Amino acid sequence: MRCEGPDNPPCSRCKLAGTECVFEKVIKTEADTPTSVELVLSFSPYVYGLQLAQVAFETSRTKSSP
Ligand SMILES: [Zn+2]
Repeated sequence: MRCEGPDNPPCSRCKLAGTECVFEKVIKTEADTPTSVELVLSFSPYVYGLQLAQVAFETSRTKSSP
């Protein structure tokens, strides 16, 4: 029995089957929560430095242009 939508449990299928959307709900929560590794990668100083350099470059180019 597949769940229709874990966003609004219990879905009609689970309600008809008399079961709860607990299993689907747990999977969705884990998928939506970024892991610590993903957080470190997205906020790594290297990427942050690159973004700062790009912003500085765009700013200086805008200022120099008439
Ligand atoms: Zn369900």
